[in-house]
Amino acid sequence: MAKHFDYICIGGGSGGIASANRAAMYGAKVAIIEAKALGGTCVNVGCVPKKVMWHGAQIAEAMHLYAKDYGFDVDVKGFNWSKLVENREAYISRIHTSYDNVLGKNNVEVINGFATFVDAKTIEVNGEHYTADHILIAVGGEPTIPNVPGAEYGIDSNGFFELNEQPKRTAIVGAGYIAVEIAGVLSALGTDTHLFVRKESPLRSFDPMIVDTLVEVMAAEGPTLHTHSIPKQVVKEADGSITLHFENGESHNTDLLIWAIGRHPATDKINLQATGVETNARGYIKVDQYQATNVEGIYCVGDIMEGGIELTPIAVKAGRQLSERLFNNKPEAKMDYTLVPTVVFSHPPIGTIGLTTQEAIEQYGEQNVKVYQSGFTAMYTAVTSHRQPCKMKLVCAGADEKVVGLHGIGYTVDEMIQGFGVAMKMGATKADFDSVVAIHPTGSEEFVTMR
Ligand code: FAD
Ligand code: NAD
Repeated sequence: MAKHFDYICIGGGSGGIASANRAAMYGAKVAIIEAKALGGTCVNVGCVPKKVMWHGAQIAEAMHLYAKDYGFDVDVKGFNWSKLVENREAYISRIHTSYDNVLGKNNVEVINGFATFVDAKTIEVNGEHYTADHILIAVGGEPTIPNVPGAEYGIDSNGFFELNEQPKRTAIVGAGYIAVEIAGVLSALGTDTHLFVRKESPLRSFDPMIVDTLVEVMAAEGPTLHTHSIPKQVVKEADGSITLHFENGESHNTDLLIWAIGRHPATDKINLQATGVETNARGYIKVDQYQATNVEGIYCVGDIMEGGIELTPIAVKAGRQLSERLFNNKPEAKMDYTLVPTVVFSHPPIGTIGLTTQEAIEQYGEQNVKVYQSGFTAMYTAVTSHRQPCKMKLVCAGADEKVVGLHGIGYTVDEMIQGFGVAMKMGATKADFDSVVAIHPTGSEEFVTMR
C-alpha cells in the first residue's frame, strides 16, 4: 500500500528543502524526495562551490595584483587546485549534515531516489508508491549542451566542479552568469582563459554601463573575450587537445572546453504527462501567482517554472510562501517577483536591482526618467599600480524620482546592494537615498551622494 503524506516535495534543492521544512514546522506530515545530494544545484554544483572558487580567485588577485604595492614582498610558491577543491567539498559535506539535521529535527522524511509520477496523486520511487494531498515539483534544471558535432568533447558547469586539476588553457562558450563567473575565476587563478560569446558582448540583458565596464576590465585583466563567435564544430586532436571551429571561419585550440550556454528544466523524465500538468514547449511548468499548476494539488517552484528567475533565493522564498499558504492558513501568501536584487560574481562583481535605463524608458517614457551615474577608481586598487574602475547608476522615474533601477560594478559591489533592495521595495526616491548620511570612506556611499 502507498505511504500517504500531507505534502511531498520532489527535489531536495533550494525550493524543495525550504518548502518542506516550512510545511513541517506547521505540523504537516512531509516527505522530500531527492535523487542525488541534498541541497540541489546551489549547494552541490552551483552557488556554493562557485563562491568558494571565487574567493580563491580573490585571494590570487590580492597576491598577484595588489600585495606588492601594499608593501608585501610576496613569493607565491604555487597554487594547489586540489587542496582548494578538497576544502570546498568538505565544506559542502558539512552543509549536507546540517540540512540532514534540520530536516530530521522537523520530522521531514527524506526519501533517496528518483521520483516519477504514477498519477496526479501518486509518486513512485525505487518501486515504492507514495501519495500526498499536496505535491510540489521542484526538480530544477540541467546544463544545456549545444547540438554541434563534437559537443561531447566539452564539459558543463557540473563538470567544472569535478575538475581535480587546474586546466592550463580553457575555452568557455556562453555569455550569461555562469560563463562570466567561471571565466573570471579561471583567469584570476592563472589559467589561460578565453570566453566566446555569440554577439557583441557578454551579459547583454544588463545595463550597458555594467557591460562596458566588464568588457573594459576583461581587456585589462582577462579573460580574453572573443565576440561574434558561434560554435560550429569541435574536434579532438591527436595530442588530446580540442579545437573549436566557429561559423565566422575562426578556430581556437585549447585543453578544456566548457559549455555555459544556459540550462533547461529537468521535467522531461518524471512522467509529468501522467498528471496532466501543463508545460510550455521548452518544458517549463505553467503556474499561477500562487505557484499552483493547472492540476489541483500540484505546485511548482524554482528553476522549472515558466517565467521565473533562476536564483536560489527565488526558489527558497516561493517554496516558503507556498507552505505558508497551504499549511499556515495564509490564503494570500505568494511570491513577489519584482525588484529582485542579483549579483554576478564576476571580476569585479556586478550588482543590479530593477530596471535598466532602457527598460525604464520603455515603461515610463524618456521624459519621465532621470539617470544618475558615478564612476571612480576603487580605493582598494587606487593606491596600487593596478587600478580598477567602479561604476554605479541610479535609474529614477517620475516627478518624485522613485529609484526603479540600481546598478553597480566594482570592488565589493556584491556586498553593497542588499540593503538598497529593501529601500527600493519600500518605494524609496532619490531624495530618500540622499537623506541618508554617507558612510565614509566606502564605495557604497556613492549610491547616496550622486548628483
Ligand atoms: P535545484 O536546486 O536544482 O534542485 C532540484 C533537485 O531536484 C536536485 O537536487 C535534483 O537532483 C533533484 N531532482 C531532479 N529530478 C528529480 C527526481 N525526479 N526525483 C528526485 N529528485 C530529483 N543562484 C543564486 O542565487 N546565486 C548564485 O550565486 C548562483 N550560482 C549558480 C552557479 C551555477 C554554476 C549554477 C548552475 C546555478 C547557480 N545559481 C545561483 C542558480 C541556483 O543554483 C538555482 O536557481 C537553484 O538551485 C534552483 O533551485 P531549485 O529548487 O529550483 O532546483
Ligand atoms: P544564462 O541564460 O544566464 O546564459 C546563457 C547564455 O548562453 C546566454 O547569454 C546565451 O546568449 C548564450 N547561448 C545560448 N545558446 C548558445 C549557443 N548555442 N552558443 C553560444 N552561446 C549560447 O544561463 P547560465 O549562465 O547557464 O545560467 C543559468 C541561470 O542560473 C542564470 O540565468 C542565473 O539566473 C542563474 N545563475 C545565477 C548566478 C548568480 O546569481 N550569481 C550564477 C550562475 C547562474
